[in-house]
Amino acid sequence: MDLTSRQDKIINIVKDNEPITSLDIADKLEMSRAAIRSDLTVLTMLDILAAKPKVGYYYNEDREELKDIEKLFNLPVCEVMSMPLNIKENISIYDAVVSMFLEDVGTIYVIDENEKLSGVISRKDLLKISIGQTELKKTPVSLAMTRMPNIITIKQDDTYFEAAKRISLNKIDSLPVITDEYKVVGRISKTNITNYIVEFDWEN
Ligand code: ADP
Repeated sequence: MDLTSRQDKIINIVKDNEPITSLDIADKLEMSRAAIRSDLTVLTMLDILAAKPKVGYYYNEDREELKDIEKLFNLPVCEVMSMPLNIKENISIYDAVVSMFLEDVGTIYVIDENEKLSGVISRKDLLKISIGQTELKKTPVSLAMTRMPNIITIKQDDTYFEAAKRISLNKIDSLPVITDEYKVVGRISKTNITNYIVEFDWEN
């Protein structure tokens, strides 16, 4: 929410003079107390200012930390995602396992002949089919993958928080990042989400 310039002025007055009464704030702005009442209500409701009865208004320091968290949560997925590992539907289970190790990813995305997302294959999908199948070099990944339209995806300009929410609610490890044409351009995983918290440029 954008603040008005008067609300910004009030915040600065409170920062420099806390605790300060509404009357003193109004005096500094050369306005009446009634004129700034609604601004004070808004700023208190937003937790930017805190009011103590008979003492006055304080600036809520915790607010700065919240700003960082807000910034992190609203980051676009494209800033956090990593490169996807995309394979064709006819690739064998055996080769998918090898690729998973070589590329060090936990989930592989499967694309069709038009390069559109058609499936997702996880570590457990590969383990499961490996138990019952001996012909792993001849069995295509398409037999073991979770298919469209059951795939939970995300777009590059969706937020970090939305990605975290979809991963958590659907109990999965990662989301393919797709374009409007269902091309897979990235991957966002539990690891990306966790690492970004550690690497984030915290100001507070
Ligand atoms: P693992 O199976 O290795 O624990 P996941 O928890 O990511 O890894 O996968 C669990 C199941 O959900 C698997 O069958 C997998 O194919 C499927 N899955 C993984 N990612 C997605 C996704 N983005 N959308 C839908 N299903 C998925």
